[in-house]
Amino acid sequence: MKSLDISKISTFGKILNLNYVKLYMKTIPKVAERFIRYAKISTQSSEQSKKIPSTEKQFDLANLLVEELKEIGLEDAQVDDKCVVYATIPSSLPKNLEDKVPVIGFNSHIDTSTSESDENIDPQVVDYQGGDIILSKNRTIIISPKDNPQLSDYIGTQIITTDGTTLLGGDDKAGIAEIITAADELLKLGSKKLHGKIRLMFSPDEEVGRGHEAVDLTTFGSKFAYTVDGGEMGGLEKENFNGAEGKIEIKGYNVHPGYAFGLMKNALRAIPEIIKLFPNDIAPETTKERDPYYHPTDIKGTVDNVTLTYILRNFDASGLDEQIKFLYDGVKKVQSQFPDLKISIKTKKSYKNMKEILDKYPYIVDIARKAIEKTGLKVIEEPIRGGTDGARYCFMGLPTPNIFTGGFNFHSKKEFIPIIAMEKAVETILNIIDIATQHFLEENSKN
Ligand SMILES: [Zn+2]
Repeated sequence: MKSLDISKISTFGKILNLNYVKLYMKTIPKVAERFIRYAKISTQSSEQSKKIPSTEKQFDLANLLVEELKEIGLEDAQVDDKCVVYATIPSSLPKNLEDKVPVIGFNSHIDTSTSESDENIDPQVVDYQGGDIILSKNRTIIISPKDNPQLSDYIGTQIITTDGTTLLGGDDKAGIAEIITAADELLKLGSKKLHGKIRLMFSPDEEVGRGHEAVDLTTFGSKFAYTVDGGEMGGLEKENFNGAEGKIEIKGYNVHPGYAFGLMKNALRAIPEIIKLFPNDIAPETTKERDPYYHPTDIKGTVDNVTLTYILRNFDASGLDEQIKFLYDGVKKVQSQFPDLKISIKTKKSYKNMKEILDKYPYIVDIARKAIEKTGLKVIEEPIRGGTDGARYCFMGLPTPNIFTGGFNFHSKKEFIPIIAMEKAVETILNIIDIATQHFLEENSKN
């Protein structure tokens, strides 16, 4: 199969490359145009920062979103001091029916992952004809059907990729572009389309697990909501991992090695035994679907102090508790092998599986399922091997399943998103609004 080499396009020089993108900007759908505009604004969050938002630059996009929301007619659009953007699409229902349809929310996140740079993102619009898409001049960054067999579904369509040097930020700027495009289309239909009040929300710091700290669900003011932060076209997610994260700290004692006899206590000596506590066959790289895992993520240290951070994931809440106990018991054993060192362990639970909440309101997921089916897509319902802001909102009182953005390979230089998938996401959002309105009006007429 023929492969498409973006680096060749770039070697013609930046000017041609720019024209190439400009040319497409005129012909690509609104949703893709919006997405490319947002992708170019750096909004990476930060694990280190204690502030909300964790990085000031997230306001750069938030402020632009407020402007654009106002431009399409959402007059109350505003961003608060925590960098959360809120806006309302007013109800188009006749006055006597207005309170019959509850407020529905749509949300996505402004920040991008810390796993790759998001500075100077240069999205490339590729006419995909099959085969590999080569993103870097040294041919090290290749999007291949071997790794992404779904690519074959998109032959003959346009795909947005990176230039091989950054992530793309489809997680979750695609979600933002899709929600705003759907709002724009809905507003253009005016009173021709009946719907209740819709609230939109774009929040910071999801990637560092702190988006929910910024958000005020009373201000969001929805009865239920849909996070637009999933992957492949057709995806609907109502289950996610229960998560815990923690630290194991080993304290030793350091002196000059020349005078260390009988004095030095080298914390690094215990590391092999500590690492063995994380089973190789229950790791992210060796498990899939509903399997749990143990995952050491980071290790820092010297002779006198070593810290290992880890995460634990399990779809079953009691299973997660067992994993935590397993580590605590293990640390105790290692401590007894190294009585000179002081080994401690701390764990904090983070995400909980939102299924527990969403199962109480089956109609919320049903509406999304029907909305996706109505676009002609097959619904892909798989548990998320991660967490989402929606999972947090579920336990804060707002049932919030997750629907697809259409993107692939999030958090990576090989990230890409087919434009058709973005259009299908817009269609799905509009269908959700439509089906939900019908659902509640019918319920009302029955009573
Ligand atoms: Zn995301």
